[in-house]
Amino acid sequence: MGFTKLGLSDAILEAVKKQGYDTPSPIQEKSIPLILEGKDVMAAAQTGTGKTAGFTLPILQLLSQGQPTTSNQVRTLILTPTRELAAQVQDSVATYGKHLPLKSAVVFGGVKINPQMKKLRGGVDILVATPGRLIDLYSQNAVKFDQLEIIVFDEADRMLDMGFLPDIKRILKILPAKRQTLMFSATFSDEIRKLAKSMVRNPVEISTTPRNTTVKSVKQWVHPVDKSKKQALLTKLIKDHGWYQVLVFSRTKHGANRIATQLGKKGISASAIHGNKSQAARTRALADFKAGKVNVLVATDIAARGIDIIDLPHVVNFDLPHVPEDYVHRIGRTGRAGSKGEAISLVSADEAKQLFEIERLIQNKLERIMVDDFTPDHDVPESAKNIRPPKNKKPKKNNSRNKPRYGKDSDSTGKKPNKKRSFWDNKPKKKPQKKSPNTGK
Ligand code: AMP
Repeated sequence: MGFTKLGLSDAILEAVKKQGYDTPSPIQEKSIPLILEGKDVMAAAQTGTGKTAGFTLPILQLLSQGQPTTSNQVRTLILTPTRELAAQVQDSVATYGKHLPLKSAVVFGGVKINPQMKKLRGGVDILVATPGRLIDLYSQNAVKFDQLEIIVFDEADRMLDMGFLPDIKRILKILPAKRQTLMFSATFSDEIRKLAKSMVRNPVEISTTPRNTTVKSVKQWVHPVDKSKKQALLTKLIKDHGWYQVLVFSRTKHGANRIATQLGKKGISASAIHGNKSQAARTRALADFKAGKVNVLVATDIAARGIDIIDLPHVVNFDLPHVPEDYVHRIGRTGRAGSKGEAISLVSADEAKQLFEIERLIQNKLERIMVDDFTPDHDVPESAKNIRPPKNKKPKKNNSRNKPRYGKDSDSTGKKPNKKRSFWDNKPKKKPQKKSPNTGK
């Protein structure tokens, strides 16, 4: 199916075409018509699935048909957990809405509030915001929601992980009850469902099957290594393989700084991004990395959330995350938009528990590859045997709800797909499960 069948205006189609997109992603194919119909939507989609355009394109269309905004009013609010994601969503809004007479703005903390207040004075059609700064602006009367038509929660699960629930509740209280609510989340845990219940009306649930399209093209493996040798191994891998654009994950801010400094000492250009860096420094580091001026970006989970770099070829987990879901978010940075990617984890003996939890979540044992001269003195214990789901087991009905993203229906084997598949082709290779058209369940 092409974009032209989705009911989008020529102005929007032209902008989409300029981006070089010819086929809507599965999530776009499902979400765009529903949003255009005015439905509340709950979509299971993570970064890399094309979700941003999935909500931005129909919103632009709906707004271009309505009344223009007036002073300090906002017609659509898009909430995101992080500043980086907010900036990226705003970029998408500006790109896709290029030929439309709509105003948009982005607001987040860590930068001066006055210029943001000024931007909001005349009202904006679309405001992309992080929760804390939005509340600050609201309490100073800089933003009003009497004309609000649509609210989007982007990466809702991450907003909860980051402790934004009280802020979200406050925001919900100040929004008009009559509105369209869209919720995008990588996972639909009980907690998310509980939150959703309080804000959506008869939502249509959508997801893509298998749950995640991106991981198919990500090759994942583990290098067992002693903790003390991780830095040297990282340097060797980058140098030996000539990796030129590597996102390295560190569990701590301090660790991120140290890794970047040590790489610098070995002649590898690297910078660190984390919560202690100013917004300007984070933006600059990201821009330098994207432009290829810096080869390695070392990031903490929160700072890296939502970073959208097309064709990022390598992700390295210097430390494994404590929360296994973060592994999935981390490797979602590579192999995106159909390109091939590699996700490499440097795992020391003390991280065995995290490794098992990750393997259980992704339902897959990660291949272990020893590197000469780096064979660990402290072995990483063998993984539990029962990680893999039994072969050819038929998926149970209704078991996809509340399941981890990479459940039994996923394809996260890390093996090369045996056939060349189209960019967004995530359809099951064999018989698809019987599903109701909109729920994806
Ligand atoms: P997202 O999941 O919104 O972060 O998007 C992932 C990436 O896919 C972004 O770099 C988009 O520019 C790109 N993208 C979104 N929709 C399409 C499409 N229909 N065809 C090709 N690329 C797309």
